[in-house]
Amino acid sequence: MNLLKRLFNRKITTTLTVTSSNGFHLRPIAKFVNEVKKFDATITLKAKNKEVLATQVPKILSLSLEKGDSFELICKGKEAKEANEKLTKLFQELMRDDKEIERIEQEQITYSKIDMKGETIAKGVAIGRQVNYTKQKIHSSNKKALSLKDALNKTAQELESLYQQNRSKSEAEIFLAQKELLQSDAFQLHFETIEEEIAKLKDTKFENKIPDYLDLKKRIESHMGIETTFKLPKKVDTILFANELLPSEVEEISKISAIKGVVLFSGSTTSHASILLRSFNIPSIVVTQKEFEPLEKETILDANAGVVISEPNEKDLTQAKERQKAFKKEQEQSFQKRFETTKTKSGKEVKLLANITNLDSAKEAKELGADGVGLLRTEFLFTHNKPSIEEQTQTYQAIFELFNEVTVRTLDIGGDKSLPYIEIPKEENPFLGLRGIRFSLQEQTLFKEQLLAIFKAVDSMSSNKKIIKIMFPMVSTPQEFIDAKNIAQTIAKENNIDIKGIQFGIMLEVPSVIFGLKEFNKLVDFYSIGSNDLTQYLFAIERTHPTLSVDPISPLLLVALEQISKNVEKPISICGELAGLEVATQKLLNMNYTTLSVSAKLIPNLKEKIRKI
Ligand code: PEP
Ligand code: MG
Repeated sequence: MNLLKRLFNRKITTTLTVTSSNGFHLRPIAKFVNEVKKFDATITLKAKNKEVLATQVPKILSLSLEKGDSFELICKGKEAKEANEKLTKLFQELMRDDKEIERIEQEQITYSKIDMKGETIAKGVAIGRQVNYTKQKIHSSNKKALSLKDALNKTAQELESLYQQNRSKSEAEIFLAQKELLQSDAFQLHFETIEEEIAKLKDTKFENKIPDYLDLKKRIESHMGIETTFKLPKKVDTILFANELLPSEVEEISKISAIKGVVLFSGSTTSHASILLRSFNIPSIVVTQKEFEPLEKETILDANAGVVISEPNEKDLTQAKERQKAFKKEQEQSFQKRFETTKTKSGKEVKLLANITNLDSAKEAKELGADGVGLLRTEFLFTHNKPSIEEQTQTYQAIFELFNEVTVRTLDIGGDKSLPYIEIPKEENPFLGLRGIRFSLQEQTLFKEQLLAIFKAVDSMSSNKKIIKIMFPMVSTPQEFIDAKNIAQTIAKENNIDIKGIQFGIMLEVPSVIFGLKEFNKLVDFYSIGSNDLTQYLFAIERTHPTLSVDPISPLLLVALEQISKNVEKPISICGELAGLEVATQKLLNMNYTTLSVSAKLIPNLKEKIRKI
């Protein structure tokens, strides 16, 4: 067989396992499919005796891949190898980042009577007249009616631009998901019979996708001159009672200031409409009750308690108004005070830093009031292609300009994180293998380039007042730290860069460090606890394990944290997920952990929570 033929016949298969508790659902599938299309290869997924094309969202959905299910990723053709590597990595990232949407805790409040109870979608207290949401289709005369083909294209463009505009936000994925659905056969080939296709989803596991299909249909039709309209009061404060809301309808509702709250009678708190209701801060709940009769009477929607009270008495109304005022004040305060320092009631000052991955997330963190960056996960800068030293320097420079304090973690690959252009020999237990600093000390090229890029960025900084820290991941022995720092000093010397101002520290995420703190105290300038890995290694439960998990505030983990806190003699922070968990805040402060590095969106509320402790 000649070389060309061999190339085209190349077939690479990898087995992947779904590790997210949400399963392999629409939004991550859409991201996956979006990437699949970039390769010159035929890519399929095989599971449960079924093989489907990976370019079609509905086909992948039909595999019903739940947490713990495995499937084969099969890539054939010219770019099979690249596709397999990139898609494997992307899939693992998607699983890792697909966080369960936490159930919103409800407050226990007594009203004289309660007419409905439901789960909270978005918090808030609303008072207004109940209005039933009814829609009507009309042929619009003021819009140019496009052909189906043009309407399909126009809708795809519209969704792509919505996705691009909102890219850093989670709700952007909804638009990408809809765009990928739009490009599936169901819409491209069978639009005429789309009603039947949608009807087939009823009473199946995919019932929750119906609103996305209907929404797409509506978007396409609007370009064909058919508008769906609804009559909504624009002047009177309103609580909308809706059997169903489509994602695009939530967008429209969000523009009507008279709509103060929403009660939904179908769907769930994790549906796409719910995600958008939360992002627009519209107080809302979902109730299971099927029958309702909108009374067009004054109503309280107390989404903080998850209740609806129709025609409330004076006492209930007064209580609701007070709760509404207090809640608004709290929200406004936490956002307005996001740039202010954070002190507990007893005067303990707490620093809230951000975990970031690139310049975009750095900007978002700045806007949300981060006091600095406690963890720059640099592996994300290396994800697709190897960045040049200059490219890296530019990114570090731009991030350093934004904050007075930045901790840059050197490449942390291995384990669940790989790079498509770096071969790590296959290991039986990658989490116990060539990870983090172990990899950098063995394959030194990337490590040296990265250090040089950071040094160059520090060297070119306009202010010398900034605190720049370099943090090594997965350090388990003092010698690893000594070796890594020696490499850094040699690189600086060879390039004539003064690095005396840079601090060097470690992630405290391997349990052996707890027992070597005496030695480490003499070497490092700082520590940051990686609670995600520390928990994994303390309990010997893989952090991505499909069925096993550890209580994030397990008493045993807290004992370890207590011991660490007592024995460290250098500044310490926490940058794992634990730092952002409100149930852990009080406990961490009690142990004297006063520097927390968390996902940026948690910062305003966490600051306010700490102010009340
Ligand atoms: C951790 O392990 O807690 C941590 C912050 O690092 P990562 O999640 O990137 O491994
Ligand atoms: Mg870690």
